[in-house]
Order: sequence, then structure tokens, then C-alpha cells
Amino acid sequence: MSKTFAIEDMPFAGTVPSPKVNGENEGMITGNWRVRRPVVAEDECTQCMTCWIFCPDACITETETAVTHNLKYCKGCGLCAETCPSKVISLVPELDFED
Ligand code: SF4
Ligand code: SF4
Repeated sequence: MSKTFAIEDMPFAGTVPSPKVNGENEGMITGNWRVRRPVVAEDECTQCMTCWIFCPDACITETETAVTHNLKYCKGCGLCAETCPSKVISLVPELDFED
């Protein structure tokens, strides 16, 4: 029979530091995972910010007329495109871009 442990008896595992440089977390860059890039049809964006709520990398910010993605952190998961009520985000293959 295996031995059981109470949660309070478990050793403390530690914490993951969250380094911040100019408001960005340089220790958690995920943009190099991306194979598809979200592209917003800016003239159709209603700035409802639903995509901002769902983005797991907090890399969406509001602009004057739409939203923009910080590609250093966007991993291309597609949640923003999936949850956008207006369906104005397209996921474009990274190979289609020159940069
Ligand atoms: S969810 Fe769609 S419409 Fe809303 S802010 Fe994001 S891109 Fe614009
Ligand atoms: S593709 Fe994923 S990580 Fe990139 S902006 Fe959309 S929700 Fe955020």
C-alpha cells in the first residue's frame, strides 16, 4: 500500500520569477513558437477587446483604431481569432511574411 501525504506536508517547490523590462517579460518570450501570425482587418475591428481578454500571452494592445499584437510574445495559438466576435482576425502562415 502506498504512503499518502497531506498537502501541508508537501515540500515547497519554489517560484518562477517574472522579470520585467519596460513592461515586458524578457524571460518568457514565446514569439519564436509561432507558425501563423494573427492579422487584424483594422477597418472592421470594433475594439471590443474580447481578444485581449483571451490572449494567454497578454500581447494584444489597443491602438487608435483597432488592436495590435506584440509579435515578440504572440505564439500564434489562434485564440484571438477564434474568440473575436466580428471574425476580423486572420491567421496567416509566417512564411508569407518577409520579416
Ligand atoms: S475581438 Fe476582434 S473586434 Fe474585438 S478588439 Fe479584438 S480584433 Fe477587434
Ligand atoms: S495568436 Fe494567441 S498568443 Fe497570439 S495574439 Fe492571438 S491569442 Fe495571443
